[in-house]
Amino acid sequence: MSTSTTSAPAPAETLPIRTVPDPVLRARTRPVGPDDASEVRALIPRMLATMYAAPGIGLAAPQVGSKLRLAVVDLHPDDQPSPLVLVNPEIVAKSEETATREEGCLSIPGQYADVTRPAQVTVRYQDAEGKRHEITGEGLLAACLQHEIDHLDGVLFVDHLSSLKRNMILRRLAKEQRERRQKRGDDDF
Ligand SMILES: [Zn+2]
Repeated sequence: MSTSTTSAPAPAETLPIRTVPDPVLRARTRPVGPDDASEVRALIPRMLATMYAAPGIGLAAPQVGSKLRLAVVDLHPDDQPSPLVLVNPEIVAKSEETATREEGCLSIPGQYADVTRPAQVTVRYQDAEGKRHEITGEGLLAACLQHEIDHLDGVLFVDHLSSLKRNMILRRLAKEQRERRQKRGDDDF
């Protein structure tokens, strides 16, 4: 029995973020079904905590090693937390007009590039309680929704670049990762 009067729940634990070339980032996810309810309930607060801690504005389940079709987004409108939980999201409409903006990815740390995508998309999804919703976004929200849904199909933002640019980014990242490992090794002595 507890007589504690502090009512704030313990903050959810963060999860390690998978980075390229982890194969889980290239695997297709499977739709969340009724049998996944308890796993999804446990995963959502931890994904949100991981995204906020990174910090990032979106995080898809494969980035924390899960193969469920689930992502979280928070663009902090008006500087306030405003989490959007996307269960089984699908793009149902996209504009012909395109927009180009710089993107980065928590799974490709420190690398950024201009990505061109449809300027506006409509996404159908379920919330954490299974209720159906539709959202239409443009600007940063449109890019973020497409970036996260790409993750659920095993697609990364570098796949939208020329192979020359993609290889340059992945080689640069591998070099930085190698250097970091080396540095850690040196620090052991
Ligand atoms: Zn990403």
